[in-house]
Amino acid sequence: MSQVLSLLETDSEPAAVSAPAPASRSAWVEIDVAQLRTNFRLIREDLPARVGLAPVVKDNAYGHGALTVARAAVEVGARFLAVNTLEEADELRRAGFRTPLLLLGERHPDELPACVAHGWRVCVGELAIARELSRLAVEAGRTVAVHLKLDTGMGRFGVRWDELAAALPELVGLPGLEWEGVSSHFAMSDEADKSFALLQLERYQASLQSLIEAGIRSRFQHLCNSGGVLDLAAAHFNLVRPGILALGVFPSRVCRRLPGIAPVMSVKARLVSVRRLQPGDPCGYGLRYHASTPRRIGIVPVGYGDGFPRLRNVGEVLVRGRRAPLIGSVAMDAFAVDLTDVPDAQLWDEVVLQGRQGGEEITAQDLARWKGSVSYDILAGWRARLPRVCVG
Ligand SMILES: *Cc1c(COP(=O)(O)O)cnc(C)c1O
Repeated sequence: MSQVLSLLETDSEPAAVSAPAPASRSAWVEIDVAQLRTNFRLIREDLPARVGLAPVVKDNAYGHGALTVARAAVEVGARFLAVNTLEEADELRRAGFRTPLLLLGERHPDELPACVAHGWRVCVGELAIARELSRLAVEAGRTVAVHLKLDTGMGRFGVRWDELAAALPELVGLPGLEWEGVSSHFAMSDEADKSFALLQLERYQASLQSLIEAGIRSRFQHLCNSGGVLDLAAAHFNLVRPGILALGVFPSRVCRRLPGIAPVMSVKARLVSVRRLQPGDPCGYGLRYHASTPRRIGIVPVGYGDGFPRLRNVGEVLVRGRRAPLIGSVAMDAFAVDLTDVPDAQLWDEVVLQGRQGGEEITAQDLARWKGSVSYDILAGWRARLPRVCVG
């Protein structure tokens, strides 16, 4: 860690977008930068001016490229860029971003000197971390801006709302800290039933009141993820933390729709083999598929080694604007699709695994359903092995 974050490093120039040509491999992830900017503009326009943006670009912006997404966020005036780990913060710092960085995750004391040195805002959910930051601030003779993390019901991190009163005397007394923000996180913001979210909001408001009474007046109050941005205007306060929404994916089926928001990521490949199966012929590892009638199949050079879910005889891709079903088991590097109903399909044809082709679309939600997971997992799951290509 200390080597990675050496203070002797000089700021590097903003990194060039080095998009490998799709030709470098017959499979790639496409990032539509024009749509990304549109999404950010629409989110910005949907919010009152008093509500700032702290876009969440953790996990390489859910696989979209942290620098690409951070650039678009900065264009709409993001107040903070939010990440989870120090490595993620350091990538933005090295790229030259001047927007303050907000570290959402939990910290170990060993990580704090680098945070203080770089001015990264730690979200403090443990008193021990607050004490250590205070000690470092005093030692450095500076004030360190921190955000208090409250647990209002998620039950994972932060000072519990019903234990805040007991913690307040110590928090207030810690020298060298500026409580710049107070945060919490929704457990259920994007579902139709908002009762738990509203309970969390109530606890958050009561906690803010206690903090003010104890003399802690934060500049920023932030509670909303994408679900909250869309559906819980009463919880916007003056800062929101959208992640997935800026990428054009709605966090759930039932949350409010913002017209014009559309997915930024597509995953594409070329057919690397087109062949015939005779009745009774198997296809792929484990003989999980046998042709019942003569079939024409295509091989897609993408597998679970690329983050494609390890599906078996379920799922679809788009070829020539039509849906072709996946057959057999997904392997590390490849899977097979049935092209019998797409007779014009040919070797090297473009295949869409996620995204649009013609009038058809395969969404991250479709892939999530086939995998038995959520769209977040699908987006973030595409591995670095697939080159990222920026378009638009
Ligand atoms: C990941 C994360 C977000 C963003 O969530 P989305 O549902 O993608 O908008 C917001 N806040 C915190 C604390 C997070 O960890």
